[in-house]
Amino acid sequence: MDQIRIKNLKIFAYHGVYEQEKEQGQNFVVNAVLHTDTERAGESDRIADAVDYGAVCLFIDEYLRENRFDLLEAVTRNAARELLFAFPAVKRVEFEVEKPNAPIPLRFESVSVRIEMGWHRVFVALGSNMGDRLQYLERAVSDLQEDPCLKNIRVSDYIETAPYGGVEQEDFLNGVLEAETLYSPRELLERLQKEEQLAERKREIRWGPRTLDLDILFYDDLVLAEEGLILPHPDMRNRKFVLEPLAELAPFFVHPVYRTTVSELLRELDEADSAEQA
Ligand code: ATP
Ligand code: MG
Ligand code: MG
Repeated sequence: MDQIRIKNLKIFAYHGVYEQEKEQGQNFVVNAVLHTDTERAGESDRIADAVDYGAVCLFIDEYLRENRFDLLEAVTRNAARELLFAFPAVKRVEFEVEKPNAPIPLRFESVSVRIEMGWHRVFVALGSNMGDRLQYLERAVSDLQEDPCLKNIRVSDYIETAPYGGVEQEDFLNGVLEAETLYSPRELLERLQKEEQLAERKREIRWGPRTLDLDILFYDDLVLAEEGLILPHPDMRNRKFVLEPLAELAPFFVHPVYRTTVSELLRELDEADSAEQA
């Protein structure tokens, strides 16, 4: 993606662990790389189609002056997040805050913290088979819609499905949610688990009845296998209740491991099912 670069923006502010830094303030220097599509502005030559870098500089200046943090890490993360909220055409930002006069009794040029943050496209499977199933799903969706770290949410139709995994239980209501998020994969998992807890989800039997199950299907095209988090969700190929609503939202999304589209995965599963029945 194209980049707009802001170099050595100088700001006088009051961040630091020491009292003296909080009271007297000092110079900070910001470097930012804004990842954005410049094609439209390049063609039209109109500021309305562009990310207004003047406005971005003023925004960064005001944010750093009007907020106070102890740590450069906190300044950097919070400012980057607010910048992404305020300028939606910026998809990703590299953001560095330098402290040229940090209180260190040695000769040095500056210390800095540099991070990257951006919007990621995610798909989440939704399921419920206890109590008022629709209400559990709708409540989760509306909570997630309220969360500023998730945007452009789209939800598939909900479908009634027979239980999966051999446990005798009520039918499910299933769907898939698509969103853009600033959360890291771990943060998103925690956010979804918090939502499951709000629905008084209890983990009793594996694949057993539940008020709410929220599983991350895809996080961009990330492939990851860690304790407690596997991406893409490992079993989707065998789950019609996942592939069907997923194909409604994103039929051409390419599975990063199987290298095939969601609609192709659904077709393969349908074929395998009809072969089994024949
Ligand atoms: P399944 O994941 O096979 O659909 P489940 O949803 O019933 O089973 P849960 O009890 O909801 O399983 O979750 C068990 C654990 O799965 C969670 O604690 C979580 O850490 C882990 N997990 C691993 N990968 C994922 C993922 N992609 N999305 C959600 N949870 C995941
Ligand atoms: Mg599940
Ligand atoms: Mg789950």
